[in-house]
Amino acid sequence: MASRVTFIGAGNMAGAIIGGMIDSGFAPDAITATSPSDEMLAPLRDRLGIRTETDNDAAVEQADVVVLAVKPQIMREVCEKMRSAIQARRPLIISVAAGLPAETLEHWLGGELAVVRCMPNTPSLVGAGASGLYANTRVEASQRELATELMEAVGLVEWVDDEALLEAVTAVSGSAPAYFFLMFEAMEEAGASLGLSADTARRLAMQTAYGAAKMAMQSDKTPAELKRNVMSPGGTTERAIEHLEGAGLRRIVQDAMNACAHRASEMA
Ligand code: NAD
Repeated sequence: MASRVTFIGAGNMAGAIIGGMIDSGFAPDAITATSPSDEMLAPLRDRLGIRTETDNDAAVEQADVVVLAVKPQIMREVCEKMRSAIQARRPLIISVAAGLPAETLEHWLGGELAVVRCMPNTPSLVGAGASGLYANTRVEASQRELATELMEAVGLVEWVDDEALLEAVTAVSGSAPAYFFLMFEAMEEAGASLGLSADTARRLAMQTAYGAAKMAMQSDKTPAELKRNVMSPGGTTERAIEHLEGAGLRRIVQDAMNACAHRASEMA
């Protein structure tokens, strides 16, 4: 991949994607990251061997792809300041910022740009992310491939063809790590009330979630079939599942995800 990629912002998300890109064979000297403070850039430069820059305009000058990775609250100011440099170069724009529509970003950057909007999640920080991507009509097939390659460096990539579906992605994966963390908390508390130490219960719950996800991903069977396989009639698992179903777990999950998607639409 010979494209030159510039990250505007060198925080957690940019650092995770850059680390993943290098691990998957991307040349460090084709990557530039920017931040107003060189203090944030020094570790990336020293550890990963990438180029760094405190001037966004200079970093955009030779970029084929510009990844917008600053906080949403300062995005407008950052985009408007580098508008001329972006318009002079017209790179592919990839935004990982929550809640900012592609059209808004394109407008702040001066218009007529290929924009990919990405909804990643926090497990990207450990290389096990899940991202939903949307491309506006100016994005070419080769740019789509490049965006896929970049985000696959930190996990799974799924494309949606309607930007509004990123709200559903937010509900299914963007916000979802917290649903599982809540489940771990609940299982730890319940395990402790059954006599285990909280640490033991937590470790068992987390490893079980990891194992269940790995098994489901490697299997040809649906989650419903896998669930049936561990439920013998009259057994312990059946008793627990009856309880979860009876207490309305599916409705609770549906309501929570509806609320999440609705909030995402309010923020767009
Ligand atoms: P962060 O605070 O770790 O990083 C932000 C970076 O922007 C910092 O390096 C900061 O120095 C830099 N910055 C500030 N002003 C700048 C400017 N004028 N020019 C260039 N750089 C500037 O934030 P983060 O967690 O990496 O989040 C970045 C984006 O990723 C956000 O828009 C957020 O919505 C999105 N995101 C993050 C996560 C996550 O797991 N962290 C998940 C989903 C989406």
